[in-house]
Amino acid sequence: MHRAHVSKIGMTALVPPELIFACAGEPFDVNNIIPASKNYPKNKLCAWTAIWREMLVKREIKIDSLIVVAGGDCHNALVDGQKAAMSGIPTHFFFYPFDGDVQYLESQLHKLSSFLGNIEYPEKFRDVKALKKLGRKIDNKRLNGKISSSEAFRILVSFSDLMGDLDRFRNALDIKEGNIALNNRVALIGVPPIYHDFHEAAQSLDLQIVFDELPYEFVRHSGDDINEVALDYCNYTFARSLDFRIEFLQKELEKRKVEGVIHYTQFACHHVLEDEILRAKLDYPMLTIQGDLPGKTPQQIKLRLEAFREVLERS
Ligand code: SF4
Repeated sequence: MHRAHVSKIGMTALVPPELIFACAGEPFDVNNIIPASKNYPKNKLCAWTAIWREMLVKREIKIDSLIVVAGGDCHNALVDGQKAAMSGIPTHFFFYPFDGDVQYLESQLHKLSSFLGNIEYPEKFRDVKALKKLGRKIDNKRLNGKISSSEAFRILVSFSDLMGDLDRFRNALDIKEGNIALNNRVALIGVPPIYHDFHEAAQSLDLQIVFDELPYEFVRHSGDDINEVALDYCNYTFARSLDFRIEFLQKELEKRKVEGVIHYTQFACHHVLEDEILRAKLDYPMLTIQGDLPGKTPQQIKLRLEAFREVLERS
């Protein structure tokens, strides 16, 4: 049986896209359009949530319903998500367990499945899992200098919604390989930069980003059914305690042999407060930068990246 209409499901942060596909929905991560956006919202704290909130309220983003991650990785989304809901968009509020409780997450996934009209295509779980395996291969190729960090980032960050179309996405994974000198290997931690050309800017200054913290979470978790998805996504580091996230980061940074860390922070984001803890616990030279509105990477940040590269080259 085929549905005449596939529902477009907006999501404000990471929600297992495999479940949305399995429920015959088309996931759409509302954050993916922000870096290229020219909208400057009037009433804002974090520009990410303020821009999608304004676009949703004005119906400039066309979706059938919305999933707001209200407990987990972003606190601003809770209020801006409610504003979008008050404008009349059918909305579901999703909560990750802070303590990693699998049963709690499983119950959340069942509630989400009911909101979405229940599972219709269980095979989609496996299809997404296979694509995520390819995503991890792409990440590995970037780590070995076969793919540029900007190409790898573009793909990895798209794994939050797989472009809402598994066939189209599979084709997009076909990337030409090259040979990139990995001179100054850095990790990019924190939320992704709001600047659409950040990876190109870093690369042009000879800083090779070999780890993107949040996009790696998008390809790291999967499962063949709700129970397996709960077991895996309960380790989504951004929704857990800082200790849990830092322990994961320490292992990952060591494995990737990074020489330095760039911590991107977003103006008015609560994650800014984590900077001093990350600095104390991660034993690497660290550059903290902060962005606000979307656009190109500002000259001032490029200068700071350049100075950071010099520090790495001297050490
Ligand atoms: S930058 Fe911070 S406040 Fe803004 S959407 Fe991301 S997690 Fe939320």
